Amino acid sequence: MRACRLCALRCGADRTSGPAGACRTDAVTRVFHEGIEWAGESELVPTYVVSLSGCNMACAFCLTGGASQDGRAGTPLDGDAVGERIRVATGLRSVTILGGEPTVHLDGAIEIAARVPRSLLLVWKTNATASAEALRLLRGIPDVVLADFKFGNDRCAGRIASMPDYVGAVRSNLRAWARRSRLIVRHLVMPGHLDCCFRPVAEWLAREMPRVPLSLMTGYLPAHRAWGELARTNRAAECRRAAELVRTLGVHLVPWRIARGPSAASQDELWIDPRGRVCADSASPALLSVLNGPGAELVI
Ligand code: SF4
Repeated sequence: MRACRLCALRCGADRTSGPAGACRTDAVTRVFHEGIEWAGESELVPTYVVSLSGCNMACAFCLTGGASQDGRAGTPLDGDAVGERIRVATGLRSVTILGGEPTVHLDGAIEIAARVPRSLLLVWKTNATASAEALRLLRGIPDVVLADFKFGNDRCAGRIASMPDYVGAVRSNLRAWARRSRLIVRHLVMPGHLDCCFRPVAEWLAREMPRVPLSLMTGYLPAHRAWGELARTNRAAECRRAAELVRTLGVHLVPWRIARGPSAASQDELWIDPRGRVCADSASPALLSVLNGPGAELVI
């Protein structure tokens, strides 16, 4: 923490006296969100998520950007308390440690990992820009690595997420993870970025790691500081083109599902996006029956 080299930026900042690097994060691991998520890659949900604040990237469209990009957000981690909440939660398949970027708080993340029962999968949800040193420290810890490959070129990554030398860092992270863990690559299709971002990501995956599955998300929502071309949802034609590209390249897709949630309808949280679509993060059985009913189309 006195000379941090946890992420690919390897800036050497001293985090013990306050936020100093691009991650805007000091040496204290803070949790800004914790709870069960029912929607996600089918074999991982329901999953208990622990979200740590602080991120080395600054994606303009980040759904949780207000908290996740603020290293001071949330409350300091109490590993035993988190471990106890995981232990008493029922029906889980996995525990997901995410950020921001969890690598920024590798020490705290490992404290959580140490408390995950062996009966559950430990999922490491990452933006895939860890340093080589951090990757070495993580060896043998996650069962599944859920890694974002967001941008297909350095220009978009620099402009939208303030991350230099992005593509090289992600490719080398993915190669490392593919050798040692179960890897799922996630890509959120961004409006207007099919040819510059999704296509190069999909082509690289098909060429370099054809057995690694892709979790493709087309339900982009403009959030946080989304501007310009990012201030809208994807058009139906863009979603169709993305699906067509996946088929043409023969990329293997991971199915998503909404797992059965708790019986309390008060847990449901819905909103309506600018195209009039009803959106939900999780669903009680009552809501699930509506979402799975006639006329409903599930968009991830
Ligand atoms: S996590 Fe990255 S950006 Fe933050 S201090 Fe460490 S090396 Fe620098």
